[in-house]
Amino acid sequence: MIHHHPGEELLLAYASGAADEALSLVMATHMSYCAACRAKAAKLEGLGGALLQELPPASLKDGALNNVLARLDAVKPYERPQRPAGRDGTPAVLRSYLGGDLSTVRWRRMGPRLSYAPLFQRGQVRARLLRGVPDADSGPHSHDGAEYTVVLQGGYTDLTGNYGPGDLQVMEDGMSHNVVADPGEDCINLAVTTGRLKFDSLLQRIAAPLFGF
Ligand SMILES: [Zn+2]
Repeated sequence: MIHHHPGEELLLAYASGAADEALSLVMATHMSYCAACRAKAAKLEGLGGALLQELPPASLKDGALNNVLARLDAVKPYERPQRPAGRDGTPAVLRSYLGGDLSTVRWRRMGPRLSYAPLFQRGQVRARLLRGVPDADSGPHSHDGAEYTVVLQGGYTDLTGNYGPGDLQVMEDGMSHNVVADPGEDCINLAVTTGRLKFDSLLQRIAAPLFGF
């Protein structure tokens, strides 16, 4: 059961193609769990097409329409490749970044309770997987930019609530929180950050840059 969904501005950014690669990955991952948001995004995509049709017509040369239609006939429609989900339920969209399933990720340790796996970086925007053992604690931190998190396994709790598989959390620039993994199983998240994290503890402030946080 999914409790935390993206806001309409994120859905619109995704559906209109305005979202960058990292944000699109966050949205597609959430939507692989969430039929409600898939349906909303499909509606928004349709709305975008309708808006285009409302635009006043531009004058074209004679035969332009036929030329375009003839070219369309020659072009194969683009079909999004349908990749199957992993055997362990890894969303298909993530599998292409991981080169496999979550169960085959090679984790880098950040202390005894936390580990991570980088996916990609575009400028200041970083996409990573984060993993915490049950009851692990991220330490209080705030953000220079936004942080988008989708839970893939297990769950966590912070001052804003509890997050389980498929839930999407958006932390805006300047918000502060402390994330604690739920008991039971390891918590694995997809996390996209658009700036550096700022940790409150001195030790983590020293350690974080070593891990690229
Ligand atoms: Zn949703």
